[in-house]
Amino acid sequence: MSESLQTEVLVIGWGKAGKTLAGVLGRQGRSVTVVEQSAQMIGGTCINIACVPTKALVHQSQARRAGDDPSAYFRGAVHSRDTLTATLNAVNRSMLEEVDQVRLVVGARAEFTGPRQVRVTGGAQALDITADAVVINTGSVPRVLDVPGADGPRIYDSTTLQHIEPFPPRLAIVGGGPVALEFAGMFAQFGSQVTLITRGQRILTGEDDDVAESVHQALAAAGVQIRTGVDVLGMDDDGTHVDVRTSREPVAADAVLVAAGRVPATEGLALERAGIDDGPEGEVVVDAGSDEVLGGALHTVDAQELVNLIALAMRTGTTASQLRDGIWTHPSTTEALNEVLASPRD
Ligand SMILES: Cc1cc2nc3c(=O)[nH]c(=O)nc-3n(C[C@H](O)[C@H](O)[C@H](O)COP(=O)(O)OP(=O)(O)OC[C@H]3O[C@@H](n4cnc5c(N)ncnc54)[C@H](O)[C@@H]3O)c2cc1C
Repeated sequence: MSESLQTEVLVIGWGKAGKTLAGVLGRQGRSVTVVEQSAQMIGGTCINIACVPTKALVHQSQARRAGDDPSAYFRGAVHSRDTLTATLNAVNRSMLEEVDQVRLVVGARAEFTGPRQVRVTGGAQALDITADAVVINTGSVPRVLDVPGADGPRIYDSTTLQHIEPFPPRLAIVGGGPVALEFAGMFAQFGSQVTLITRGQRILTGEDDDVAESVHQALAAAGVQIRTGVDVLGMDDDGTHVDVRTSREPVAADAVLVAAGRVPATEGLALERAGIDDGPEGEVVVDAGSDEVLGGALHTVDAQELVNLIALAMRTGTTASQLRDGIWTHPSTTEALNEVLASPRD
């Protein structure tokens, strides 16, 4: 059965930018509809499966004493993590529920049927939405490794590893970026023997040498074995453990985390029906000279230099509430500005 709905702004995905935009526009009296595919993702990736829960786990891991049993301790840490994310998820839900002009559709996936037309499907129900503007805020998903065995039972991504059961005494991690390193440090503290395998000649290839070197030293001191310049060729599961085949010697592990980057979550959106081009990894292709796709409402910050950002804002006459309610592509910037400017006076 299908129903239809007309809205001024349709936001696909209850992520960082989308939820802020929906709240601001709704409070201004615009009719807004937010579609989110999963009740577990209300508030988006950052609070449910990424920034906040992983930092909570890092914090818990650092409080572990040498004598604490790794399995039991990890289970307790996961329980605390789950309590925290459930609270944040509920707060995020009520933040938009209390705005009269915002309609929420949860548990349904969106796909374009035309340039400003979207069909939202959940189970047997379908809703056809026509909007003056559609905001794509579907975020990203972990990149899947294209090697044999990468879909095996002991292969995890950054979401599934947070609830791994049983706790892995030996953990292999594929990747050398921030997510890989965050989990490497965390699981070493929880009591795993961690081996990090990265194809780069060093970890954190996007950072300066001295930064990467300091992080390398800190992880090595925590017991993480780091193998750089190594390609993963396959993963062989014998029913009890997994051998990671590499361009050097293999690594035996009880679990493997693949943290080899993330790709845009645009699969199934049928962007072509909206006349939107996508690139090789599903990224939306934008003409920088036109605001057709971005709508001109997007502010960006490349680094989290809050102090510099606020100094710049003061010079340009940007008010505190504009800063707080702005749409920032870097989630921590949004969180920091929300925190620092909680009750701004213009
Ligand atoms: C492990 C990890 C740790 C991180 N730590 C940090 C950190 O400490 N600091 C930091 O700044 N960043 C961190 N990040 C990055 C940060 O989480 C992301 O940059 C941010 O969450 C992206 O927000 P977003 O609004 O683009 O999308 P998301 O928050 O991902 O929101 C997209 C939403 O769209 C929904 N959706 C997708 N497709 C559809 C569809 N077709 N129909 C309906 N709904 C759909 C999804 O369910 C999701 O809820 C981390 C990431 C990871 C993986």
